[in-house]
Amino acid sequence: MGRTSVDVRVYGAGIVGAACAYFLARAGAEVEVVDSGAPGGGATGAGMGHLVVVEDSPERLTLTSRSLALWRDLLSWIECEALPCGTLWLAENEAEFAHCRAMGDRLADAEVQAELLDERALREAEPALRPGLPGALRVPADWSIYAPKAAARLLETPGIRLRRGDAREWRAEANEPPSVFALGDRTPDLFPDLPIRPRRGHLAIADRRPGLVFHQLVELGYLSRAHASDEASISFNVQPRASGQVLIGSTRDYAGFDSATSRATLAEMCRLAARWVPALADFPIVRAWAGFRPDTADHHPFIGRHASGAWIAAGHEGLGITLAPVTGHLIADLVLGREPIVDPSPYRLDREPTHA
Ligand SMILES: Cc1cc2nc3c(=O)[nH]c(=O)nc-3n(C[C@H](O)[C@H](O)[C@H](O)COP(=O)(O)OP(=O)(O)OC[C@H]3O[C@@H](n4cnc5c(N)ncnc54)[C@H](O)[C@@H]3O)c2cc1C
Repeated sequence: MGRTSVDVRVYGAGIVGAACAYFLARAGAEVEVVDSGAPGGGATGAGMGHLVVVEDSPERLTLTSRSLALWRDLLSWIECEALPCGTLWLAENEAEFAHCRAMGDRLADAEVQAELLDERALREAEPALRPGLPGALRVPADWSIYAPKAAARLLETPGIRLRRGDAREWRAEANEPPSVFALGDRTPDLFPDLPIRPRRGHLAIADRRPGLVFHQLVELGYLSRAHASDEASISFNVQPRASGQVLIGSTRDYAGFDSATSRATLAEMCRLAARWVPALADFPIVRAWAGFRPDTADHHPFIGRHASGAWIAAGHEGLGITLAPVTGHLIADLVLGREPIVDPSPYRLDREPTHA
């Protein structure tokens, strides 16, 4: 590839665009990244930054576990407030605890380490949780990061230059150099045939209290609400931050691009958090916001070539931070004609937009 001109242009400097640019540049391409706003200022800046292996479909298990392996390499040199906190999937009753066991078996089959904690082991691991919970599944190799910082670090890779501009400048008839579109929930502005819609999520950050919780704590019901239902929902999901603050999540609903926070929803989300971690009941909330997960009908991303010739990497719903490295690697493989890191067919753009 040439040294002075642009070999590949990437539109969108969120975590997905940054990862696409990084893997292309690492392969020797000169990459220009174009964004109309600040890098990481879209969904990437609104998310929780939980890097998590998810096993609720074979595709998601493959994609998330491959991506976590790539993240581990990146986190050896990227400074982005990363915390190797692991995840505790919390059961509320014996039926859910049995589900945790089955989940652990599926993770073990995929060579992802996981251990079942009974009631006592759970209390030792997380004394702030309410007593009487039957147990949890611990996945120690998950992380939390501050994603906008990770995107900024990736974009500093030699071979990448950043430019302020609008993706609508692109013309399909002059598709040179090859262009990758990582526009998240704004993808349909340019490609109206790609059904990506904003799925709103509220988060709140509580004051510093180092040592209150140690793992990313997620109630087991979170996954079914995220991936098997389109109903509005609130799930318990709490994250210890490297700063000592506690990030409290999260909600899901479809409200167009209305980013106004609802006081009632936030109050309910915080009440739910305090039901799991009682000490959170009198914790000052220092900031709350709502952002948009770029969602597709089956909640799997679009990664591949559009009929116009453009390359697309978008629609990662609530897993875009987790999935950025595997997406970036796969895009680089496809654009450069290399063997793909994973089978791209489940993510092709012309799949039937069925519900999960
Ligand atoms: C509440 C919440 C919690 C979340 N928690 C997690 C989590 O714990 N773990 C996880 O893995 N994921 C999480 N996510 C999901 C994650 O944040 C997203 O999937 C991910 O950030 C999507 O990244 P992206 O780069 O595709 O999109 P974005 O970050 O939105 O980036 C798109 C970029 O494109 C630019 N752009 C748009 N239109 C144009 C245009 N016309 N011209 C030029 N540039 C343009 C934007 O300025 C933006 O910078 C969460 C999301 C939310 C809302």
